[in-house]
This record gives sequence, C-alpha cells and structure tokens, in this order.
Amino acid sequence: MPPPTTYGPDHNDEIRRYVLRRDRQTCQWPGCGATQHADVLFMIETDNGGRNESPFYKNGLLLCPKHMEMVNLHDKAFGPLIYDLIQLIEFEQDLQTTEKVYKDLLK
Ligand SMILES: [Zn+2]
Repeated sequence: MPPPTTYGPDHNDEIRRYVLRRDRQTCQWPGCGATQHADVLFMIETDNGGRNESPFYKNGLLLCPKHMEMVNLHDKAFGPLIYDLIQLIEFEQDLQTTEKVYKDLLK
C-alpha cells in the first residue's frame, strides 16, 4: 500500500498513521527490531505546490532513539539509505499482500 497522497490539512497526520501501521511500532533499522520509544523519521515533500505552509511529509520510517540520533547526526550520508530502506519495506509488504492473495485463491 503506497503512502497517502491526499495533501489535505491532515496529510502529515495521515503519513504518521500510515508509517506507524506499516512498520508495526518497530524500529526498521536492519537487524534492530527495538520497539521501545520508536518514533517516525519523516521525509519532506520537496515540491510543496508553491505554498508557504509547513511542508508536507512524503513518507517516513520508524526508528528507535539510537538510530534516530545516528541518522540525524549524519543525515547527508544516511538520506539515500533511508530512502532505499523505505522502498524495500514497501516492496516487501506488497510481496506479502500478493502472496496472501494467491494463497487465498488456491484454498
Ligand atoms: Zn533501532
């Protein structure tokens, strides 16, 4: 399921809810899996439609405090990795959905 693209007044809240549900309250850093105090790292929408409001979030990733700090300290280095990680997680989720559809068909 792709992230919400409503861009209404509640858009950023919708992105937050989407990420929390998708990442199951668990830090998505490879091999981490921490569930305590995990929070959403947001990716900002670069094209905000030319409006002067606060920027829209494009997507996000759930990280524990340790990995959140690491990424924020080295955001230039980790930016592309975070982007790839989100693509991977969404791809994996799509695969699981497809697998379920086929399993249900074969029942
Ligand atoms: Zn972590």
